[in-house]
Amino acid sequence: MFKFRKIRQDLILKVGRNLKGKRCYKVLAIETSCDDTCVSILDRYSEVEAPTVLVNLKSTLNSASYGGVIPTMAHEHHQVKIGSLVQEAITAYKCTSPKENLPIDLICVTRGPGMTGSLSAGLTFAKGLSVGLNKPFIGVHHMLGHLLIPRLPTNGAKPAYPFVSLLVSGGHTILVLSTDIDKHEVLCDTLDIAIGDSLDKCGRELGFKGNMIAREMESFINSNIENVDDSVKMEKLPNPLNSSNNKSIQAFSFAPFISVVKDNMKIHQDTSEAQLRSMAIQVQESIFNHIITKIKHVIMKNPQKFLGIRSFVCSGGVSSNLRLRALLESELQEWFLDFIYPRSDLCTDNAVMIGWAGIEIYENLRLTSDYSVAPIRQWPLNELLLVPGWKKRIL
Ligand code: AMP
Ligand code: ZN
Repeated sequence: MFKFRKIRQDLILKVGRNLKGKRCYKVLAIETSCDDTCVSILDRYSEVEAPTVLVNLKSTLNSASYGGVIPTMAHEHHQVKIGSLVQEAITAYKCTSPKENLPIDLICVTRGPGMTGSLSAGLTFAKGLSVGLNKPFIGVHHMLGHLLIPRLPTNGAKPAYPFVSLLVSGGHTILVLSTDIDKHEVLCDTLDIAIGDSLDKCGRELGFKGNMIAREMESFINSNIENVDDSVKMEKLPNPLNSSNNKSIQAFSFAPFISVVKDNMKIHQDTSEAQLRSMAIQVQESIFNHIITKIKHVIMKNPQKFLGIRSFVCSGGVSSNLRLRALLESELQEWFLDFIYPRSDLCTDNAVMIGWAGIEIYENLRLTSDYSVAPIRQWPLNELLLVPGWKKRIL
């Protein structure tokens, strides 16, 4: 039932002090907001260079056969996996630095938004570690992780404030204007389900299978892009909230696509591979077209908010889609100079983004969390610091 997968294990040893004599620190990060149990260890070697990702592990609950994530199963999965995954991460780290007894200086964990049971598994574990090791911990906002990961200085452009982000994942679809680490304005949100959820459900109707159906659908499309038969037209694919009476609503809507695809599949059966590829392209295009339409509406309605903004970030699992990237770059080039995406392994849920967002909170806001913090199922990004439990960092 469980699929276990290591996504990266990049072990490089750097300990002690950096060239300026500043003590470097190690971060253990945990992400358990949905059905992925993720653990990573980051080495903050210097405050001006990118931290080194020492270990990055992920154990995904295989929800494919259940048609979606079942919260109780996800909760159990985290409880079963979290201890051994953290132990594996620390063991892997210690293999390269046997003399260090307590390599962890800071613990970062997802506090919300997400499924309460899933969040509590990671949060409780992190608090226990923090007490046991006598090290501070930070309860991190999951979407802040997606939003800030492109600022992790790897290669390529790094967004400077102010910048706009499109966060597109299995659970969220938001357009955000960020003017500082703790100042985020949500410009557009979904009225119903997230884009990733919609793509996955439409893909399932088309017959695709897997844990991330939208990803399977994209790889099927790209596997033989020349082999397309457009003879089957998917009828009535919508562009929601775009009629004259609701055009001005600044929101996305992705639920209507599913029933339309379902209806089409009642008519179009026994299609060839080339016809299926064409149908998948039509579905993907209509969903991406909706997102572009609404982003343009938001810009047209609030042009002053976009003045002087250079960077457009796209992050979250769906941001690895190459067609979406191409559309954003061609359709929004009038307003933005840089289009920035995280490294592909950091697009979907991972613990590196939680560690990096924690580092930004620790260094720039000089905050940690106290032990009273509880999971937050719904936590608007613009209320980052309004929730209780933050405390000034000692040091
Ligand atoms: P996240 O919630 O950020 O972990 O992202 C998971 C979502 O991203 C799922 O709905 C996936 O199907 C979707 N996803 C992952 N890769 C792709 C891709 N290449 N194209 C479209 N959607 C994708
Ligand atoms: Zn996510």
